[in-house]
Amino acid sequence: MLLDRRTFAAGSAALLSGCVTTGGRPRTITGCTPLAPVIVDQSRVIRTVAGLRPYRRQGFVVRQEALGEKRLVHNYGHGGGGITLSWGTSRLATELGLQGHSGPVAVIGSGAVGLATARLVQEAGFPVTIYAAALPPDTTSNVAGGQFHPFAVFHEGDVTAEFMTQFTRALDYSWRRYQIMVGDDYGIRWQPTYVESGSPEDKLIANFPPVNRMLSRGEHPFPLDSVRRYDTIYVETGRYLRQMTRDVQIAGGKVEVRKFAKPADIASLPEGLVFNCTGLGSRELFADQNLQPIRGQLAILEPQPEVRYAVQGQFGYMFPRADGILLGGTFERGVWDATPQPADIAGIIADHKRFFSGFRCTA
Ligand SMILES: Cc1cc2nc3c(=O)[nH]c(=O)nc-3n(C[C@H](O)[C@H](O)[C@H](O)COP(=O)(O)OP(=O)(O)OC[C@H]3O[C@@H](n4cnc5c(N)ncnc54)[C@H](O)[C@@H]3O)c2cc1C
Repeated sequence: MLLDRRTFAAGSAALLSGCVTTGGRPRTITGCTPLAPVIVDQSRVIRTVAGLRPYRRQGFVVRQEALGEKRLVHNYGHGGGGITLSWGTSRLATELGLQGHSGPVAVIGSGAVGLATARLVQEAGFPVTIYAAALPPDTTSNVAGGQFHPFAVFHEGDVTAEFMTQFTRALDYSWRRYQIMVGDDYGIRWQPTYVESGSPEDKLIANFPPVNRMLSRGEHPFPLDSVRRYDTIYVETGRYLRQMTRDVQIAGGKVEVRKFAKPADIASLPEGLVFNCTGLGSRELFADQNLQPIRGQLAILEPQPEVRYAVQGQFGYMFPRADGILLGGTFERGVWDATPQPADIAGIIADHKRFFSGFRCTA
């Protein structure tokens, strides 16, 4: 089903009120569903992006080791959940590293994980310098959709009980930390989220988060048989990372652009304690062959402030943010090219256009 061309001609006001066609007959769904449909069209695309999720089947790495005279604490490999887990794994990492430490601290990496680590180091009273090959907006973290959800973080058959304990603790701390950061300054807000039941996503959220229930067909407008609703937090990553970088600097932290080719280069830093938050960069820097890229691509449409819910399922996903309506997404294992592919983007748009054109009245 396509958006009605006659409705387009009638003007954007009518469009924003949400008109669709059924078999050529226009019908407005305004007033008969509380959820405004997204207007999906190639002409509304304001940018396209692609990024590489730093995925390990065994899950993220948080552990410490000696590096010459220094202590090195790893904190990388968060897959598709690095925004979600950043505060939590950084808390685990700083608990490990800061114990018994005195003096300045180095953090390598300036994505969501490096910045959260740097802030926790500062909150514990230590001076910090971030060293990173690239800074926001040029990090994978900037590309992320920013949904609080631990999606594609590990493969069930490959994780240890010890990892699962770390995972649960990290998720818990992050969940609580983001809740106290909600607001425009960090670009963080709560949003109702609708998930096609039976999709892999649905299995992940069965008992998380608290508001989480199956809807009857009359309770949602989506062209889907079975839908679950839950509430979660969304991070507008560009704004968030900019504010986090400011926070580090306001608290006296330094940020230096520097790329490390091998561990020996890190050993020459003046700081006695180093946190490795290099994401996918750890594959080369620390020869971690378990780390694999999973490419994700997004088409971003002009913002639609009246869209205040997220939805995901077999067709893809839609996260509304102040900086645009994010349509995702692809999940391409082992692909290293972080550039959007026009054919894939066209596919994302076509799938979402079909989905949003199929809205039904709920009353
Ligand atoms: C399309 C897409 C959608 C996503 N959506 C979500 C989502 O909704 N929710 C969610 O939780 N997660 C999501 N993710 C996953 C999330 O983006 C990542 O897990 C997260 O960004 C990893 O953060 P990071 O700080 O470890 O890595 P990065 O953001 O990649 O930062 C790594 C830092 O290390 C630096 N670095 C790397 N190598 C070196 C080196 N050799 N020397 C010096 N510096 C180095 C880099 O320059 C950079 O500063 C998504 C990812 C993609 C691609």
